[in-house]
Amino acid sequence: MELSINFLKQIALSVYDAIHPILGLKEASAKNQRGAGGDISMDIDLISENVVISSLEERNVDVLLISEEIGEKYIGDKQKAIKSQNILIVDPVDGSNNAVRGIPYCSVSIAFAKGKTVMDIEKAVVLDLISKDIYWATKEKGAYLNGRKIKVSDLDFSNKCFFELNLPKKNIFQHIEILKPIIQQFHRMRILGSSALTLCQIAKGSMEAFINLRESNRLVDVAAGLLILKEAGGLFFSLNGSEIDHKLSIDSKFPFVACNTNLANFLINELNAKY
Ligand SMILES: [Mg+2]
Repeated sequence: MELSINFLKQIALSVYDAIHPILGLKEASAKNQRGAGGDISMDIDLISENVVISSLEERNVDVLLISEEIGEKYIGDKQKAIKSQNILIVDPVDGSNNAVRGIPYCSVSIAFAKGKTVMDIEKAVVLDLISKDIYWATKEKGAYLNGRKIKVSDLDFSNKCFFELNLPKKNIFQHIEILKPIIQQFHRMRILGSSALTLCQIAKGSMEAFINLRESNRLVDVAAGLLILKEAGGLFFSLNGSEIDHKLSIDSKFPFVACNTNLANFLINELNAKY
């Protein structure tokens, strides 16, 4: 059985109901346990993930769940899940640090794939855990914010472009030096703290690009956002400009660039020469 986009939206809304009331409160804050994705798991991450798991179990679906805290877990009948190649890739809370500290920028990210790689992602939902805005996309059928179809902006560097830059802490100043020609082209830089949501900002034309050089960037953070962005006419690629086709696995981590179509050539040329 395939998981419908409406079912994915329902899961995201159930997460909202559980998480929104505790954002910024003590109940949401840290636990000393490392999630399968590598970050420290917080109560809020575990609460959200449990909502996702119970929603799946209630529906009797057979699916491989790849999720930040639990890692990889078969829900329902393992053999049926393997045969169907149904995979759900979830970040229960993208922007946990924001959520715990009461900074209003965090989301739940849910992607459904049939197959083995990033290219096989077919459905995606990203829900803003503050505003309840719901971004969603179905492959080859466009991207939406709530009921409205969205698309990337048509701004270029002659306009006032906004971008997010996410750098590894190691050698950060070297990266900034290398990226100077790129940074200078943009009007404003933001570092917001939820990759899933920032990909949606580009998808809806509020920002123009996102350069994430962190090797530790996880598949679960971007699986849904990248489909929403692509379906809104945006581009998502590796630092040398090639298509990202990583395996659907809890261990998949990769840097990436996301942007509207106007900025792609410049960014690819600049980054390809230097990385
Ligand atoms: Mg998370």
